[in-house]
Amino acid sequence: MADTVMVSGGSGYIAGFLIRQLVAEGWTVHTTVRSLAREAAVRQLLAVDNRRLKFFAADLMQDAGWADAMAGCSHVAHLASPLPAGAVKHADDLIVPARDGALRALRAAKAAGVRRFVMTSSVAAIAYGRGRGVHTFTEADWTDPARPGTSPYVQSKTIAERAARSWVAAEGGGIEYCSINPSVVLGPVWSRDYSASVVIVKKILDGSMPALPDIGFGVVDVRDVADLHVRALKAPGMAGERFIASGPFLKLRDIADILRAQLGAEAARAPTRGLPDVLVRVLALFNPLLKAVVGELGSVRHQDASHAKAVLGWETRPVQQSIVDTARCLLDLGLVKR
Ligand code: NAP
Repeated sequence: MADTVMVSGGSGYIAGFLIRQLVAEGWTVHTTVRSLAREAAVRQLLAVDNRRLKFFAADLMQDAGWADAMAGCSHVAHLASPLPAGAVKHADDLIVPARDGALRALRAAKAAGVRRFVMTSSVAAIAYGRGRGVHTFTEADWTDPARPGTSPYVQSKTIAERAARSWVAAEGGGIEYCSINPSVVLGPVWSRDYSASVVIVKKILDGSMPALPDIGFGVVDVRDVADLHVRALKAPGMAGERFIASGPFLKLRDIADILRAQLGAEAARAPTRGLPDVLVRVLALFNPLLKAVVGELGSVRHQDASHAKAVLGWETRPVQQSIVDTARCLLDLGLVKR
């Protein structure tokens, strides 16, 4: 008989897959949403045994609700954190909820006697703020969030993971903390309210990105990310651990090539042309989304996930499958016109 686990951010993309796997494996799940007005809709999408799933209202910016959500839980998977699809006005709009929310969840977890706290960080906390070039990153690396040009999201994930680790070292008592650090998460889309990471495939598929800047990222499947969380919740000796969750590094043009090769006419709008670096720099003067990628032009950031494979027996499915499944769901949900 598995234990009771608190999964924060139950309305989220990764959380949905995680909650389904946990319930299927016999766990009882407490989950948070910002407002219980969303409970019915999220329950319907999750479509799991409702007797094993309980909802609580809790916002990263407020203390209310966290203690109730943690009561009776032995494990926590903390996923809630803002992940915007576009540019934000102030870095603190992301940094404050990410950092303070993680600390709120940790304090409530400790007070409730939680044993294991798995936090969803990101490769954003590992592989950025380093300058351009070809790099291979491991769990030993940390992003420098103070480096000029580092995006607010990258800052938020780095600062939040640092703060969580410092708090656990100073005040965590017996709590076992570890982080999962995924790269860009793709795969089946289960709702019209999809994660910002999926927007990348949507923009390539629907032709709204007419030419492709020379940028890329590691890609990982949402089902594999959920599975790694479950492994980290269950395995012994996780205190202080950090696990990169990533498949191969792909440029945008690689993703477009995969879509065209696998989907044929349905991917006819996927661009074939590259957007020259010089043009990206000029357009970035007017376009905040392009401004955010200027510092990434030409960079290759491999993220080595061998630690999760060696320690937790984690496996990843072929990246082509994740990309095609993302695209097929976007087409089937009518989010991209056929
Ligand atoms: P998502 O679908 O946008 O989920 C984010 C979740 O955080 C949502 O449930 C959202 O609630 C919640 N949230 C945001 N601000 C909140 C606040 N102030 N109070 C309470 N809840 C709040 O994104 P996701 O892809 O599943 O991301 C889950 C986690 O994985 C995040 O920590 C993210 O940084 C991390 N991650 C994601 C990726 C990726 O490529 N998707 C990669 C690496 C790491 P609402 O539904 O109410 O907005």
